Amino acid sequence: MRFEEFGLNEKVLEAISYMNYEKASPIQELAIPETLKGNDLLACAQTGTGKTAAFMLPILSKLSEEENHDLSTLIIVPTRELAIQINQQIQGFSYFLNINSVTVYGGREGSDWDQESKALTRGTNIIVATPGKLISHLNLGYVKFDKIKYLVLDEADRMLDIGFHDDILRILSYVPEERQTLMFSATMPRKIRDLAAKILKNPVEISTAVSKPAEGVLQAAYLTYDEQKIPLINSLIKDKPDFDSILIFSSTKRKVFDIVKSLRRAKIAAEGISSDLEQKEREEVLIGFRSKRTRVLVATDVLSRGIDIKDINLVINFDVPGSAEDYVHRVGRTARADKTGVAITLINQHDMDKFQRIEKLIEREVFKVPLPEELGAGPEWKVRPPRSGNKRRKPPTRKFNQRKPKGNNPKNQNPGPKPTNNS
Ligand code: AMP
Repeated sequence: MRFEEFGLNEKVLEAISYMNYEKASPIQELAIPETLKGNDLLACAQTGTGKTAAFMLPILSKLSEEENHDLSTLIIVPTRELAIQINQQIQGFSYFLNINSVTVYGGREGSDWDQESKALTRGTNIIVATPGKLISHLNLGYVKFDKIKYLVLDEADRMLDIGFHDDILRILSYVPEERQTLMFSATMPRKIRDLAAKILKNPVEISTAVSKPAEGVLQAAYLTYDEQKIPLINSLIKDKPDFDSILIFSSTKRKVFDIVKSLRRAKIAAEGISSDLEQKEREEVLIGFRSKRTRVLVATDVLSRGIDIKDINLVINFDVPGSAEDYVHRVGRTARADKTGVAITLINQHDMDKFQRIEKLIEREVFKVPLPEELGAGPEWKVRPPRSGNKRRKPPTRKFNQRKPKGNNPKNQNPGPKPTNNS
């Protein structure tokens, strides 16, 4: 969908075109019309989906038509990095508007405190703040939130993980009941729904997040060193003689080759499929697998999406997939059409954090099966504790358009800060 179709303000559209956004992302398609209508939102979306524009564009469009000079919008975020990032986007989107924004976050110099408190009291329209620092300002009594009309909670799940639940409620006690509230979260655990029930009014729920694997899939994982992986899959496959259709995903072509070689050595009918094969050869391999002549198909990640084969009994992730979306997609190869299936992931010592992120997104802890004794001990399950708010590194973002902003070309990305009193 094109941005012109939403009925956004002309000046906002102009800024979007300067930022080179051509089409709305899925979350933007869902969130922009609902926000323009004035509905509260409970949106499940991850970083990198374009969620900032999804809430900011309609808010800016409304503000631009209201001609107001009040502090009307409050955006609460878990970390200073996110506050800075969102503020940069706001400055880009509002380049042609008479609207200004400031960030309020912890760990700054004393002079920043004065700057923040001035901005909070004199005509700033939008505040992007982390909860702790905002409360410090609120405690001193000079911040007036009585004109707030739009409230956004971004990365709400992260804020609860950090322990900001009570701070959020406290901040909300300063904000008028009569307002539009938009809550964004990468995951939707129970505690998020509870918070949403407290602060949203008849919210419209939208989601572009990964779906969870079907209930029929038995998910398990092994903690293994790399050199244990091939013996492990050999032993897994040998142990399951009634599984006649097994799909193994691996991250590289080289590994596909090694796995196929070792399975064949163990007299298991296996074929590999990677971009090395011509289209015709790939089709032949797939026909062999579909007809169950080939018991095990080993594929690179690249092909995981294209393979549409029913009745797979077992999916093995030889390496942890790069994203939860890929994980769900791969695991979805098994247990299709109401059948049950098994999905096993092999996790080495370097991939544990990555796997934990997947577990968080699928909202389920995957059972870690002990290695067969003859393989010796594997690595221990060790993950880094969740980072605290201020120490968190910027999460990896996936852009819609892979184009990078180039040099000083004004047609690119953020048009840069514009002169305002407070920003
Ligand atoms: P976010 O999920 O808000 O962190 O956005 C991720 C990145 O996608 C940011 O760099 C945005 O500038 C970019 N982005 C957001 N919406 C679009 C769009 N419709 N077209 C192209 N890039 C976009």
